[in-house]
Amino acid sequence: MELRGKTAIVTGSNSGIGLGIAREMARAGADVVLNSFTDRDEDHALASELADAHGVNVRYIKADLSKADEARALVEQAGRCDILINNAGIQHVAPVEKFPIEKWDAIIAINLSSAFHTTAAALPMMRDAGWGRVINIASAHGLTASPYKAAYIAAKHGIVGLSKTVALETAREPITCNAVCPGYVLTPLVESQIPDTMKEYGMGRDEVIEKVLLDRQPSKEFATVEQLGGTCLFLCSDAATQITGTTISVDGGWTAL
Ligand code: NAD
Repeated sequence: MELRGKTAIVTGSNSGIGLGIAREMARAGADVVLNSFTDRDEDHALASELADAHGVNVRYIKADLSKADEARALVEQAGRCDILINNAGIQHVAPVEKFPIEKWDAIIAINLSSAFHTTAAALPMMRDAGWGRVINIASAHGLTASPYKAAYIAAKHGIVGLSKTVALETAREPITCNAVCPGYVLTPLVESQIPDTMKEYGMGRDEVIEKVLLDRQPSKEFATVEQLGGTCLFLCSDAATQITGTTISVDGGWTAL
C-alpha cells in the first residue's frame, strides 16, 4: 500500500485507535494531520516522532470537535484532505432517565456531528484532487445496542447512516465512504471504564475483562489499533474501490451473535 503524496486527517489521534491509524497511514507514506482538543508539547512531539519514523510530513492541529466551526476549520487549516478518518469519540454510561443533558449533547457533537462538519469541508478538496476516502470509526455499537449507553449508541448508529448517505452522494465519483465498526479495543477510553466496572461487579481486573468487556466478543480477544489501521489502509487500496456505503466489523464475531 503506497499512499505517498496523499494527506490523511485523523481526528482524535493523540491516543488510542486514532493514533494507531495515524501510525499505519504514516507507515504507508501518507502525510498525516493529527488532532485533538489539547495543545500540549507531547501532542506536537507525537507529530515529530511519526514524521521522523516514516519520512513523511506530520502536523498536529488543535481543534475541539464539539464545536462545528473548529471541526470545519481543522480541515481548512490542513489545506488538503485525501483521506478523512473521523475517529474522535467519548463515552458516558448512565440510564436514560439519569443521562446528563450536557453529556448527551457532547457525545452527539463529538461522535456524530463533527464527522458531518469535517466531511462537508473535505469533500470539495477530494473532488479537486480526483480521489478521496472518508472512513468513519463507528463501533459494534453502531449496529447493536447495550443498556446505559444511549448517546453513544445513537451517535454510532447515526454515523453509520451518515456514511451511507455520503456514499450515495459520491457514488459516481472516485470517492468512497464507509464505517469501520470495532468491538472492544484496549485503549484509554476502555481502560477508564475498568475501575468503575470492577467496583460495580465486585470483580478483579482480569475477570472484568473476560466476563464483562469481552462478554459479547466471541474471540475473547481485544481488537488492536494496528488491526484497525490495517483495515483503514485496505479501504484506501484499489481493491476497495467498489466498497462504499457499508460497514466493516472488526469485532471478533460480536455482531454475528
Ligand atoms: P481514546 O479516548 O483513546 O481516544 C479518543 C480520541 O478522541 C482522543 O485522541 C481524544 O483526545 C479525542 N477527543 C475527545 N474529545 C475530543 C474533542 N472534543 N475534540 C477533539 N478530539 C477529541 O479512545 P479510543 O478507544 O481510541 O476511541 C477512538 C474511537 O473509536 C472513538 O470514536 C470510539 O467510540 C471508537 N471505538 C472504540 C472502541 C474501543 O473499544 N476502544 C470500540 C469501538 C469504537
